[in-house]
Amino acid sequence: MANIYNFNAGPGALPAEVLQEAQEELRNYQGIGASILEISHRSKAYESIHHEAKQLIKELMGLPSDYEVLFLHGGASLQFSMVPINFLTEGKVAGYIHCGTWSGKAWQEAQKIGQTLVLASGEKQSFKQMPELSNLNIPKEMAYVHLTSNETIDGIQCRSFPDTGHVPLVVDMSSDIFSRPIEASRFSLIYAGAQKNLGPAGVTIVIVRRSLLARIPETIPDILSYHTQVKHHSLYNTPPVFSVYMVNLVLKWIVNQGGVQSVAVRNQQKADLLYQVLDNSGGFYKGLAYKDSRSMMNITFCASSSEIENKLLAELEQEGFLGLKGHRDAGHLRASIYNGVPYEHCKALADFLTEFQKRNG
Ligand code: PMP
Repeated sequence: MANIYNFNAGPGALPAEVLQEAQEELRNYQGIGASILEISHRSKAYESIHHEAKQLIKELMGLPSDYEVLFLHGGASLQFSMVPINFLTEGKVAGYIHCGTWSGKAWQEAQKIGQTLVLASGEKQSFKQMPELSNLNIPKEMAYVHLTSNETIDGIQCRSFPDTGHVPLVVDMSSDIFSRPIEASRFSLIYAGAQKNLGPAGVTIVIVRRSLLARIPETIPDILSYHTQVKHHSLYNTPPVFSVYMVNLVLKWIVNQGGVQSVAVRNQQKADLLYQVLDNSGGFYKGLAYKDSRSMMNITFCASSSEIENKLLAELEQEGFLGLKGHRDAGHLRASIYNGVPYEHCKALADFLTEFQKRNG
C-alpha cells in the first residue's frame, strides 16, 4: 500500500505503535485466552486497565489529589447537557464563552436547563478569532463559566485561560486535551471525547474537582449525575471497555514520548511547518483563523479559488492525504494534526502544498 497520511478531524489518527499493540493482543489479551472485548468489566484484567488509565491521566496532567477522573459514554455532546443538569440549579446563571460551533451547541443545551449569559462572543469575527478572555465580567454567584479551548471546525484555540476567581471554570477540551501542558488546578471540570488526541470514539474523559460534587441535586437521574459516577468509579454501568483500553495504550505512548511537554513541542513544530507554507505562499493559500487565535490542532485554510481548491483536494486524495476537506459548515480545507499525526506526515503535506503551488500558482 502507498503511504497514507491521515489528517482526519475526528476520529483522528492514532499512533501507529498503539494500533500495532492493540492488533497483537486483540484476540488474546495478555495470555488470558480471550479478547479484552469479551471479558467482564468487573474482571481483574479490565479493572487494572481502568485504574491504570485513570492514574496515568492524573500523572500526565499533574492533577492535584482533589480531582476525580471519569470515563463516561455519550460523547462530549452529552457533557453539553450533563454540566448544566448537575450545576445549573434553580436561581443560578451559567456563563458561556461563545467562540464557535461547539461552544454554541453547549450553550444551546444549557438554555434548555436554566438561565445562561454569554460572557464573550466571537460572532462578529465569524468565529475566526477567540474572544478576549482577560477582562470578563463574571458575577460572583455564577454557577460556572463554560469555555471550549479549541474550536475544531474553524480552527481557533485559546492561548490562555480566563481567571474566573471562585466561579468554577468548565472547559471542553475535546480537540486539544493532552496536546499541551495545562495548569490543572485552574479548572473545576474538564471534559473531552477521546477520539482526537486520546483514542477511539466511545469514551469521554471527565475530570472534576471533588468539592463541586456537593452542589449536585439528588433529584437528577443517577446515570447523569457526576456524583453517582464518582461513587462507582465510572463502573456504575458497563463502561466502554475497548475505548478505555485504547486510551490507556495512548496514555502509555504519551509517557514514552516524554510526556505532555515533549508532545507539545512536537505539536508546535508540526503546526509551524504548515502555517509557514500558508504564510509564505504569497496569497496562494490563506489561513482562515486570525493569527493570534490559530489552532495547533486544526489548521483551516483556503486556496486562491474554488477551482484550485477542488483540484487540490482531488490530488491530495489521490496522493494518500486523507481527511483534508473542511467541515461541511466551513468548507475549504482543514488539516487536523492531533498527537497521533507524525511530524513526517506534516512535512509530506507541507512539501506537497509547496509543490502544488509551483505547478498551479
Ligand atoms: N466539542 C468539540 C470541541 C468537538 O470537536 C466535538 C466533536 N468534533 C464535540 C464537542 C462533540 O463530540 P462528540 O461527537 O464526542 O459528542
